[in-house]
Order: sequence, then C-alpha cells, then structure tokens
Amino acid sequence: MRFETVAIHAGTQITDIRRPVTQPITLSTIFEHREDSLIYTRAANPNRLALENLLAKLEKGKDAAAFSSGNAAGMAVFQALPAHSHIIAPEDMYHGLKKQLVEMFKGKLEVTFVDMAKAENIGSAIRSNTALLWIETPSNPLLKITDIKAACAQVSEIAGIKIVCDNTFATPVFQNPLDLGADIVMHSSTKYLGGHSDILGGALITKEEDAFWEQIRLVQQVGGAVPSPFDSYYLTRSIKTLAYRMKGHAEHAGIIATYLENHQNVEKVFYPGLKSHEGFEVASAQMTGFGGMLSFLYRGTAGETDKMIAKLKFFTNATSLGGVESLIERRAAVEGPDTTTPQNLVRVSVGLEHLDDLLSDLDGALG
Ligand SMILES: *Cc1c(COP(=O)(O)O)cnc(C)c1O
Repeated sequence: MRFETVAIHAGTQITDIRRPVTQPITLSTIFEHREDSLIYTRAANPNRLALENLLAKLEKGKDAAAFSSGNAAGMAVFQALPAHSHIIAPEDMYHGLKKQLVEMFKGKLEVTFVDMAKAENIGSAIRSNTALLWIETPSNPLLKITDIKAACAQVSEIAGIKIVCDNTFATPVFQNPLDLGADIVMHSSTKYLGGHSDILGGALITKEEDAFWEQIRLVQQVGGAVPSPFDSYYLTRSIKTLAYRMKGHAEHAGIIATYLENHQNVEKVFYPGLKSHEGFEVASAQMTGFGGMLSFLYRGTAGETDKMIAKLKFFTNATSLGGVESLIERRAAVEGPDTTTPQNLVRVSVGLEHLDDLLSDLDGALG
C-alpha cells in the first residue's frame, strides 16, 4: 500500500458485527474481563490503538505511542533516559522542549546545544554519558536543515546513543527519519497531522521494540499523558487527508516563497525549497517535498512589520502552524525580550486557501 492508501485504511479497526465503515468512538474507560479484552483506557483504548497502528505504518516503524501533546511525547523520551544522561540537541530546538531540558530536567539530565546545520558539531559534543541525539529538521523559525544521515553517522559507532528526530514540520509525507538512521520519530500532531488547529496531540514512532521503547511505553501508560478517545478519533480522521493537504501546503509555500524572494520590500526568504536556502541540497536529498512553512525578513522596523501584518485579511496573526488556514506572526514579538530572532522576521504557515487570494492579499500588504 502507498502512503495515501495507508492513511485512509490503516486507522480503522472494526469489531462491531454490524460493520460501520468508520470506527466508532469508544468512550468506556473500562472493559469487561475476558481473555482478549482491553482493561483500562489509560493503558489502551480502541481509538488510540487504531491511531497508533496508523502512525507506525505512516512512519514505517514497528510501533507507535500517542500522547496528549507534542511536549508530552518529547518528555516521555527524556523521562525514559537513565538519570544524569547527556543529550545533544539543536540550538534552535522547539522552544517548549528546550525549556523542559533547561528548566524541568535541570540537575537531572545534562544537555549540550549545537548548530546541527553542521553535523560535525555533534561529534565534538559527545561525552561518555551521552545517551540521546535529538534532531529537528526543518527547524524553527529559519527552516534550517540537518542532514539526518550525516548526523546519525556521527554517533552510530557508539553503543547506547538513541537518535530521535522531531518530524513535525516535514511530516511523514515528505520525510521518513527512520529510513535515514533515526531510532524514533517524534511528532506534534497538533500541527499538520491534525491539520485543522483543533486537536492537541503528540506521538512517538519506533524502529525497534527494544528496552528503551518499553521504557517509553511505561512512561505513556503509567505516566498517563494519553490522548482521549475523541482526540484519537479526530486525529485518525484528519490523517486520512494528510497527503493531499501537504501537497497543497507545499505547492502554495513554494510559489509564495518565490514571490516573496522577488519582492522589493523583502530582504531575505527562508524556505528549504529555494535554491538560495543554505539547506537546499540536503533537503532535496532527504525530503520529497519542502513543506508549508517559510519565514522572511521584511524591509522595515518591528513597528512597520506589525503594520504590514495587520493589513492582511487571510493570514491570521497567530502562533502555531499546520492548519488549513494561513497564519503569520512576527516571531520576536512572540519569543519575548531576550530573543535573538531579528525583529523583522516574519514566520508564515501557508494554508490551503486559493493561491490567488493569498498572493493578492500579500500584494496589498507588502506594497
Ligand atoms: C508545536 C511543536 C512541538 C510541541 O507540540 P505541542 O503539541 O504544542 O505540545 C514540538 N516540536 C515542534 C517542531 C513543534 O512545532
């Protein structure tokens, strides 16, 4: 089965003898004790099992674990590590997960942040207690590309280092990190997998069902940060259209990136599908599409950039990404006073509205 077919069929597990075509939502938290029955919804629920089966197949893994948010999925990996393990993570790691490592796991785990656009930086950060290499590509907000194969090669000789890749921006439609050397893939399914800005969720997908994965399952089932049957159902439903949505997002983002690159009021555009992007060649080799996220430097001050954003009709000034509706935000305003992001950097989640409407809206606002 190809991706589109898996996406539509692998998330359905029908046990009702009257054969509904879509899987019903099983709200019951408890199950009657029988030989093959489930026991309790925190440990397993029919809708979550169907979702996990779907996610494992889409990322070409052996098994998947669904969580109540992307941050909960990431935290399960950190909690599954032995105490005082050392982690190598990207300096532009998703801020919420970076905050976990710096603030929540302070004194419990060690971390070194490196620029992963250069894979050799990973090798020089390895310590005797390094237990995890965390990769995120493309990254936020500059869409930096990490060469996944080259990054994995830096640690592959050393036993005991797990490699996890945050694949939220690329999605399994465009990138399969397990094929490129990663052990586990992480997703914030709040973004493209959910796709409609109405479900919070996260996931881990593993290449091997080994002792580390068992530890992650323990964190999921006993820690209890699991998605509800409703969330599992809606996510499974959303994923059915993921491939088609991603094709639309990437097509629109590519055209808008080129349009912006040629605009006199734009200084620079960051989109991995542009030849001018420093990660273009690596992205072309490891991705089958460049995704729907881009950012650009507006020729103006913070105030002028805010005014430009306020003129837009179809790009909502909001954070997050991956929904059908276009979003735009000035990143520095969101990241706060000690950010290193340029004040005129604008991040865009390109949506699925008609391209002509998006282009004429940008034309009106950029001048
Ligand atoms: C949003 C996001 C997360 C965190 O996911 P939540 O669902 O918000 O908890 C992690 N990584 C990336 C790349 C994200 O965009």
